Amino acid sequence: MRAIDIIIHKRDGAELGPEEIDFLVAGITDGSIPDYQIAAWAMAVVWRGMTIRETALLTLAMAGSGEQLDLEKWAPGAVDKHSTGGVGDKTTLVVEPLVAACGIPVMKMSGRGLGISGGTIDKLESIPGFRTELTPDGILRQLSEIGMVISAQTAELAPADGKLYALRDVTGTVPSLPLIASSIMSKKIASGARAIVLDVKAGTGAFMGTVAEAVVLARWMVRIGSRAGRRTAALVSAMDQPLGFAVGNALEVREALDTLHGAGPADFHGHCLTVAGLMLHLGGRVKNPRLGRALAAEKLADGAALARFRALVRAQGGDERICDDPTLLPAAPFRGILAAQKSGCLVEAHAGKIGRASVQLGAGRAKKGDPIDPGVGIVLSVKVGDSVRKGEPLCEVHAATEPALAQALEELAEAFIVKRDKVKPLPLFYKTIIT
Ligand code: URA
Repeated sequence: MRAIDIIIHKRDGAELGPEEIDFLVAGITDGSIPDYQIAAWAMAVVWRGMTIRETALLTLAMAGSGEQLDLEKWAPGAVDKHSTGGVGDKTTLVVEPLVAACGIPVMKMSGRGLGISGGTIDKLESIPGFRTELTPDGILRQLSEIGMVISAQTAELAPADGKLYALRDVTGTVPSLPLIASSIMSKKIASGARAIVLDVKAGTGAFMGTVAEAVVLARWMVRIGSRAGRRTAALVSAMDQPLGFAVGNALEVREALDTLHGAGPADFHGHCLTVAGLMLHLGGRVKNPRLGRALAAEKLADGAALARFRALVRAQGGDERICDDPTLLPAAPFRGILAAQKSGCLVEAHAGKIGRASVQLGAGRAKKGDPIDPGVGIVLSVKVGDSVRKGEPLCEVHAATEPALAQALEELAEAFIVKRDKVKPLPLFYKTIIT
């Protein structure tokens, strides 16, 4: 078999068979297929697409390209979760301890922020001392000890996806439904949980701009998960405005802590309870997601989830004093308010523009490997549907320098739209897909 024939097949719109896909993934993994051929094949997939059958084969081949964790042995019933990424999406920081507090083990491999989408690992690394690079052995040990781990992606799991994703990132081949679905699901399957909840975002601050696209991606991932023998469900959630108020790493950890202490923004609080409820249902802890939500609300209110977060911080070497004193988290030296220019109703808080302003401030990276500033970011004062008076704050910017502050305030003026007519608050979720 030759890589060029596989590229030609895909270029001409053929459905690839299992041998071709296995050959390709083996060649990506061991380096025997050169980058230019892998990139040419990826571009052919962008144009020609893949069937669900091909996508499932690609997913399983990539999941099998490295080590695969057997969580059942160490933490039976473990549930995993994945968000396709958004602006202000700090859900993992609350949902994982919440689900663990309800007696379901959680092991999550998370990513770093890329583009406007923030990453859980960057957020956790704003906690002084917190270690995110764990070995597969270390992950399993911690999971059996405290029932909870959040680790950076290890190179040992789904290495074919690691290589392919790096190439896609620089060859304009990220936006392809089968490539995104197989990339995400290969890592989830290799991570070993028997149940997986996917939070697929739709809107200006998400990979998928429209609800229709997000629903298709969600359906495909649920089908692939089910074919791989995992109980899989997906929520399609709104990402037209940031989730919660805070955008930026330490600022988001602070907001997650507020939520774990029983406060926090209403939309973020509600979002976390719904995701946790579905995880508890899929993990077999409760009969339906509604009962899961109620149980999660109990564990949030009685402090059990906060105690789990504290245990996580301690286990991964972080300074657990931040749990009671968030002023110990990094903070930016300059702050400025963006004020409303007129009275009315906030009709837009454009997640994409707010995400870009946050990256410009240094909270995210323009390309892989760029350093980030944990203290900077943006804290919204209002959400879509809220009334606002002229001169009242729309958001507060936290910046490293005065020029950066001025530039962010100028950019953000475009992101917030206030109009006379009242609009309804945005929905949190559009759809739930359970097989
Ligand atoms: N996240 C991933 O892990 N892979 C993709 O292709 C897109 C988002």
